[in-house]
Amino acid sequence: MIYDAIVIGMGPAGVSASIYLKRAGLNILCLDKAMIGGTLNYIDKVDNYPGIISINGPELSALMYQQIQNLDIPYQNQSVLDILDGEVKKVLTSKEEYSCRNIIIATGRIARSLGLEHESELMGHGISTCALCDGALYKGKDVAVIGGGNSALSEAMYLSKICRHVYLIHRRDVFRADQQLIDQMNNQQNVEQILQAKVDSLLPKDGKLESITLDNGRTLQVSCMFTYVGYVPGTKFHTSLPIMDEQGYIEVNQNCETEIKGIYAVGDIIKKDLYQIVTATSEGAIAATHIVKNIKK
Ligand SMILES: Cc1cc2nc3c(=O)[nH]c(=O)nc-3n(C[C@H](O)[C@H](O)[C@H](O)COP(=O)(O)OP(=O)(O)OC[C@H]3O[C@@H](n4cnc5c(N)ncnc54)[C@H](O)[C@@H]3O)c2cc1C
Repeated sequence: MIYDAIVIGMGPAGVSASIYLKRAGLNILCLDKAMIGGTLNYIDKVDNYPGIISINGPELSALMYQQIQNLDIPYQNQSVLDILDGEVKKVLTSKEEYSCRNIIIATGRIARSLGLEHESELMGHGISTCALCDGALYKGKDVAVIGGGNSALSEAMYLSKICRHVYLIHRRDVFRADQQLIDQMNNQQNVEQILQAKVDSLLPKDGKLESITLDNGRTLQVSCMFTYVGYVPGTKFHTSLPIMDEQGYIEVNQNCETEIKGIYAVGDIIKKDLYQIVTATSEGAIAATHIVKNIKK
């Protein structure tokens, strides 16, 4: 079978694309290596999506899942390993090879690491990139959050309600987050802000994190360090295609189409200025609508 379109990645961008494609009557397939909702499954609160005053990430994700089911959108839980161009394009997963006319890449981004010694071996043993997933393990303990943007601040606020003390460590002298979040954090007694400081080294003990040392010489005894220091694109699977910049982000035009006809990219994987749910869903809709128009021509 040759699908009209295959959507790779079912975070907000891929879900939105699949809704528009399916409602237009196209023959589609959606693939995700993890869970529908993507990053939403790992974030605490979303307070900036129009029409939804406040919702937690997993709840919004569950609503998307329900919408996919209601629309009977074909979905497979598979990891994409490569995509091949041609008049008929191929999507290779760990289990199958699929053929299609159009591909929408919506594989998002993953958290960047600090690049410190012991960091990878301590991941899951005192280092985390997901407060929502791991915060409860450190109830009543002291933890550190690294970063100064919206993600770092909102996750520090979430942890402050579970943990005894939260060190918020940022390398600059000002935060890059929304003022509302900064105000909330300034009023949170158990969040200690440490500015103009970087983590220099990690000290493990018995396979777990025991303390971190900052470049200002201070050592903090923490049970976990949560890092929010930026992201790297999730484009590892299709390195052979000439559609990425040197960092791995995909460049697209106003239709969210890459230089290769029929290959689209949407959401956090593309090169852009604003990485949010509202932009991801909008790009999904734009790419899908362009495909629908081309097919119906
Ligand atoms: C801590 C945190 C808090 C945030 N808070 C907000 C907020 O309050 N408001 C807001 O608007 N935005 C927020 N964001 C940003 C928002 O989550 C992202 O902009 C949005 O999720 C991007 O959607 P996406 O669909 O492009 O990617 P993602 O949501 O990352 O989804 C990508 C999907 O692709 C799948 N995938 C990746 N590689 C493959 C592969 N090889 N094969 C198959 N599937 C694959 C992944 O499993 C995943 O499901 C936050 C982000 C973080 C990290």
